[in-house]
Amino acid sequence: MSDSSLNKVVVIGLDGVDWRLLQPWIDAGELPTLARLVQEGAHGRLKSTVRPESSVAWTTFSTGVNPGKHGIFGFVRHQPSSYEFHLADSRHIGARRFWDYLGAAGLRVGLVNVPFTYPPQPVNGFLVGGMLTPGPHVTFTYPAALQQRLMQHLPAPYLFDAGDSAKDKAKLWQSVSAYTRQQLETAVLLLREEVWNFFAIVFTGPDRLQHFFWPSDVKKSEGPTNGELLLTYFKDLDQSVAKILGELPTDALVLFLSDHGFNAVGRRFYINSWLQSKGYLSLRSRALSTDYLSRLLTRLKSISLVRRLKQTFLPTEWGVGQLKTAVFANPIDWTKTRVYYAPDGGLRINLQGREPNGIVPFEAYESLCATLSSELSAVKDMETGCSPIAGVYQKKNLYHGPFTSSAPDLIVEPQRERDPLEQNYLIDSKLGSDLPHFTSSTPYNGNHAPHGILLAWGNGVAAHTTLPESDLQDIAPTILAAMGVPIPKTMDGRVLFELFTDQKCPDPTFLSETEPSSLGEAMYSLDAVDEPETAVIERLRNLGYLD
Ligand SMILES: [Zn+2]
Repeated sequence: MSDSSLNKVVVIGLDGVDWRLLQPWIDAGELPTLARLVQEGAHGRLKSTVRPESSVAWTTFSTGVNPGKHGIFGFVRHQPSSYEFHLADSRHIGARRFWDYLGAAGLRVGLVNVPFTYPPQPVNGFLVGGMLTPGPHVTFTYPAALQQRLMQHLPAPYLFDAGDSAKDKAKLWQSVSAYTRQQLETAVLLLREEVWNFFAIVFTGPDRLQHFFWPSDVKKSEGPTNGELLLTYFKDLDQSVAKILGELPTDALVLFLSDHGFNAVGRRFYINSWLQSKGYLSLRSRALSTDYLSRLLTRLKSISLVRRLKQTFLPTEWGVGQLKTAVFANPIDWTKTRVYYAPDGGLRINLQGREPNGIVPFEAYESLCATLSSELSAVKDMETGCSPIAGVYQKKNLYHGPFTSSAPDLIVEPQRERDPLEQNYLIDSKLGSDLPHFTSSTPYNGNHAPHGILLAWGNGVAAHTTLPESDLQDIAPTILAAMGVPIPKTMDGRVLFELFTDQKCPDPTFLSETEPSSLGEAMYSLDAVDEPETAVIERLRNLGYLD
């Protein structure tokens, strides 16, 4: 390590935070801590992944590589040679995370609620699982003994995310507030009692609230507007940030960052319904209405019913997750379906020789991709007169690396950045014979946007600096460089030299990594079986991630 290396680096993750929301509040003096940090630090926009979804984006943050090298394309992952999708978790990340390199260099790391760290894998330090943790009955910390300490010190129930009450805004608000409070208390406890060189915590509250409370211009009722409600949360968060800063040594470098930005949304595009109307996708029975499907899914929430189903006619090795995804796959008539929009966030072609009942010949693949791209780009929502689609990308043009072949064939990006909000779209993968192509985006009025925030403050940071746009994959190599640890050449990101002072500007060294980067192999067996996965699936469904 060189003389300029920093010994203490902290990441405070703010899921889904966007300067467009923060800046006016900072300018108006509503968020004094963040205002001071912007003034004293370096800040700019941070480009997210395509797609800008937490699963993909936080994994690019932690690995410094594009999704083709880490293999996470959504909250679920496609099972090869099948139409099944299972939940993804920390064991499926196909690249090493930057904290693995910090640990190997002898630096101690502490991770609190960083997405995709469950199930907990060994680190040189400590780890508390985050948003995909099924519940307090499974091992959610490393070392395992840490979890007893947390549960003794903090009020029950111990939480892993908000959002279980997404249909009730008041309950959602309460659960986000309770979770944020618990996160702050956890951070303070561990910062005081543990030894660390690198520490990270990710607050998911902003994202959870913004989906439902993104401010629109129209004041629809008496009482506080969405903007006023959100500001209340952000003022609390600003104070939480101040409390965390109060626990840090004076020589710490602090990076605030979000996995993606946020913007207003007004419309929903049922892409599988559109595929059906164009003859690309066919359902088995006309009687299969969305009403039937949603009733079936509602019934699946009953674990005892699932158990009964399993006992009667399902293979015994099936988990509830498979049952849920089978509900997705079963209605589709694969002998007549050329393309479908899959739960992992893209179009999959029913290719001969690759899918179990593939009907599209290999020679027709490229021309089908081209036709789909041009037809999707030409789709119009008659109610708004707008196209819902901002771009259609073949996976080989978007990602590179050993896992590119696991990605959906075509990634479809909806309009996210238009003004007015009615012209921004969510893509919904729901299946049903009676679905329209478009509806309003209710209950969501906010959705992810491509640019998040980056704000660096503290030791070594060039003060009063506006940064050029940087990329989420730049964070991992920047942290390694700042701490004097060699950067693996396989990382796609670059060191953000521009945020450092001349004296503390890192002089990075590089590591040629030839060994297979398969930390994703199961080192720990998941002691969670059916119910926990159901709980996580339900949470994701409530948050709209599996629609
Ligand atoms: Zn979100």
